[in-house]
Amino acid sequence: ISAIRNPMTILHLIVDRMSELIDDARCSIVSINDEGVPYVKASSDLEVHEEIKLELCKYPEISRALDSKQPVIINDIKNDPLMDPVRAQIAGLNFNSIIVIPVIKKESVIGTFLLRMATPMPAGVTKRIHKLCQLVANLSACALETAILFEKTQTAREYFAEMAIRDGLTKLYNHQYFHNCLEKEFSRSSRYHAPLSLVFFDIDNFKRINDVYGHSHGDSVLSEIGELTRSVARLSDVPARYGGEEFAIILPSTPSEGAMEVATRLGRIIRQHRFKSLDGEQITISAGISTFQDNGVQSCDQLLQRADKAMYQAKAQGKDRVVQA
Ligand code: GH3
Ligand code: MG
Ligand code: MG
Repeated sequence: ISAIRNPMTILHLIVDRMSELIDDARCSIVSINDEGVPYVKASSDLEVHEEIKLELCKYPEISRALDSKQPVIINDIKNDPLMDPVRAQIAGLNFNSIIVIPVIKKESVIGTFLLRMATPMPAGVTKRIHKLCQLVANLSACALETAILFEKTQTAREYFAEMAIRDGLTKLYNHQYFHNCLEKEFSRSSRYHAPLSLVFFDIDNFKRINDVYGHSHGDSVLSEIGELTRSVARLSDVPARYGGEEFAIILPSTPSEGAMEVATRLGRIIRQHRFKSLDGEQITISAGISTFQDNGVQSCDQLLQRADKAMYQAKAQGKDRVVQA
């Protein structure tokens, strides 16, 4: 164990060795998260290294160990009153004894060590097995703590990585990410001679929405438009908030007809949507489309400028429409 760095490997090693050591025993290590929900981190029962969420009400022995911070020993699960609430569920199980040892770190219970044995009742959990389990539970504490910390860091890292590329209000991709993606997609399209389309759109008369309903209602309209935009985009598309009330969608491997279809559908969905903060007032958008496909477009910037220009033409032609560059 001292030579192993990966905490999950340590936990799996512990449960495997313990179940080998004690006849007809199965062993698990459960962690308790900040909300008090138990997860099986390692178990000799599980073939794959998956984590399983436990419903505490189905495991009165674990609940008792967590509440009391003391080991719980049950030598005859068929008759022990602690198991009464789950009598029906445990009827078919082929083990008789259970020992649960709370895993404690800095005075708080971070998990439990669990051993279930098929041993007939009189032998049950002997003093020797109890001592061994206590020793192993103490041994697992550091690995379990590291595994929990590692998971928290991982979750935090994923959260911040996501935050860095998203716009907070609409949850669409942000301006920076949009530009990075557009450059990547542009060079990919050049290399593979695949079409690449761009939809650019701006909300019509949005100043009025802010003036009539207030800025915070304006914000909630933007957030709903973000949701609608996501709903029309495919997984490979990149829907982004370009800035203010201007949005863009990168459509890889999409010719202009496909982009026209997406922009028209989005325009219709937004026009028909009932916004939560508006009194049934309709919102429309003006969109411009440009496509890179053997049509003289030389760079990403040019693709962007064409879509932007087409969008302004849509405004000039009376708004609520899509114009193709
Ligand atoms: P047009 O139809 O020509 O697009 O007219 P418009 O009123 O939409 O005008 P324009 O696009 O020039 O104005 C954008 C307005 O959007 C101005 C600004 O107050 C508002 N806006 C930009 N960003 C936000 C935001 O984050 N929240 C809110 N509530 N309003 C925003
Ligand atoms: Mg604008
Ligand atoms: Mg506008």
